[in-house]
Amino acid sequence: MARLINFLLVFFLLGLLAGTGALFWKLEHTLPPLAYSEFLTMLDHGEVTEVRLDGGRIALKDDTGQEFATYAPDVGTLLPELRRRQVAISAEPPGDPALRNLFTITLPVVLVLLAWLAVNRTRQAPVPTEEREDFARDKMIDMATVERRITFEDVGGIPEAKEELIEIIDFLVNSKKFSRLGANIPRGVLLQGPPGTGKTLLAKAIAGEAGVPFYSFSGSDFVEMFVGVGASRVRDLFREAKKNAPCIVFIDEIDAVGVLRSGAGGFGGQDERGQTLNALLVAMDGFSREDTIIVLAATNRPDILDPALRRPGRFDRQITILPPDVKGRLKILQVHTRDKRLAEDFDLREVARNSPGFTGAELANLVNEAALIAARTDKDFIDSHDFDAAKDRILMGIERKGLVISEQDRKTMAFHEAGHAILARFLPEADPVHKITIIPRGRAMGHTQQLPLNDRHAYTKEYLRNRITILMGGRAAEEIILHQQTTGAENDLLQATEIARKMICRWGMSTLLGPMAFARNEGEFLAENTTQLGISETTARHIDQEVKKLVDTCYQEALEMLMLEKDFLGRLGEILLQTETLDREEIDIIFECSQKKRLEKHQGGSPAECDSCPAAAHCTQRSDLAA
Ligand code: ATP
Repeated sequence: MARLINFLLVFFLLGLLAGTGALFWKLEHTLPPLAYSEFLTMLDHGEVTEVRLDGGRIALKDDTGQEFATYAPDVGTLLPELRRRQVAISAEPPGDPALRNLFTITLPVVLVLLAWLAVNRTRQAPVPTEEREDFARDKMIDMATVERRITFEDVGGIPEAKEELIEIIDFLVNSKKFSRLGANIPRGVLLQGPPGTGKTLLAKAIAGEAGVPFYSFSGSDFVEMFVGVGASRVRDLFREAKKNAPCIVFIDEIDAVGVLRSGAGGFGGQDERGQTLNALLVAMDGFSREDTIIVLAATNRPDILDPALRRPGRFDRQITILPPDVKGRLKILQVHTRDKRLAEDFDLREVARNSPGFTGAELANLVNEAALIAARTDKDFIDSHDFDAAKDRILMGIERKGLVISEQDRKTMAFHEAGHAILARFLPEADPVHKITIIPRGRAMGHTQQLPLNDRHAYTKEYLRNRITILMGGRAAEEIILHQQTTGAENDLLQATEIARKMICRWGMSTLLGPMAFARNEGEFLAENTTQLGISETTARHIDQEVKKLVDTCYQEALEMLMLEKDFLGRLGEILLQTETLDREEIDIIFECSQKKRLEKHQGGSPAECDSCPAAAHCTQRSDLAA
């Protein structure tokens, strides 16, 4: 099929070239014709200024600049006459013009044809044997000779996956136990999960525990420009692996070769990928009972894999690895802080609690960043401040210290963030505010960080509505205090609309549309990508209306709540302008103080307790200041 497409493409190119050549040839020969006698009359009247002789063909130009073509029966007798009348004469080199034109057409065609043949030959050229053998051999790690092996001790927080894989080690080490009874050991295990959850690490740990050779590849190692190279690499790899069995073959990012084959065949890369996948499928089918080779593969996109890969006898075991829960995070942090010098009173549990959604790779990065920050300030131990700074850096980006910000922009940010924080503090079910800052970091000018108390696996409609209201709090606060709308709300609006759309289209949370799904996830681990299911125009209009209604209602709620808390909003904004950053404890103190004030205001009493209030240092409404 691919060949047919190649052929058609070349055919099309040839046609295009021939067409262009013919067009030029035609243009050349489309001068208005003139009878030879008429030409002679014009010559007698001195109207011909220029002639171009091309064999018997004469192209002439008259004194008005117009061009004609004619044929002379005998050019020889005409020449003296032309010279006498001082007509400018030029001539084409001898040869058939049609042939010349044919040459100009055919030369590029032949060149293209030759280039195509050359590419095709190279694509089919066999790769030298040594190169092929080196490909597999270079990727082998002999675990028996490795000094510091990765084992299950190095993997934290994924007990289910570990349990499942411990059995694999038994297959590798005690294969006879199984073959004695006629059992076939599993051939392939597919590890699937979001990036950084430890799939590669687990594969290495299995090889480390079993002490068997480990071949590590990435799917893209097989795919080359030349069709057939990947397939031959797969065959060589398994030939080499059989020599060193029992062993583990690990193919990371298997989606690079294992992507669903399209029925229509392909061109170039697609063709190569298809052949490589076929070779892999055939190789896995070709294992005999004595071949103790386990193929481990990892992917972030199981949804796009070819179903043939999952068939029993190939990757029939599939293990899903998701980001760890709080217990898992603690285990992973313990693994990565084994060789770090932590302050004595430092509690890793607090870090684990405050890092929901972090994957193993992100936790490893967090520990390393904290160590770097501590080292930069010449500390002897890593403490909670270093972890806090590292987390801010990872979540919000690097502090932009050099950025010059006008007083007006600082004000906008302070009231904007105060708006988010107050709503997050008052709305039920909202995640507690961990930190508010108006120091620009990364792309954000300010940030209100909320952290859930526990890992959430399901979200209620109430929670999601409140989330939208909190996101709207920034814009609402700016409107109330500064009577302005700014671009600072861009990201909030995007997020709010996205949540509202998902509530309606995916989670059936609209009363009008009912419990129906109008969109689905494209990838299991790429929850952001959704495709619309076939929906009618009316439904599409209803979806838009419902999304708008939801976001509008939440915005009104945000406005109303902040109007009621206008004093607190103003105060929190002022405090933020002075301190730039507030953490959870400080926010709690200010909140309590504000509640007290409000109570007093309502009761009409004097703020006598103000001086003893723990937030007095921050409070701009202190009784002494007011006086
Ligand atoms: P990708 O899909 O992007 O290839 P992955 O799932 O294969 O990612 P790994 O390469 O295994 O992720 O993990 C990267 C690093 O993260 C590891 O080298 C390790 O330091 C750390 N890590 C990830 N998960 C764990 C874990 N469960 N325990 C300890 N460390 C972990």
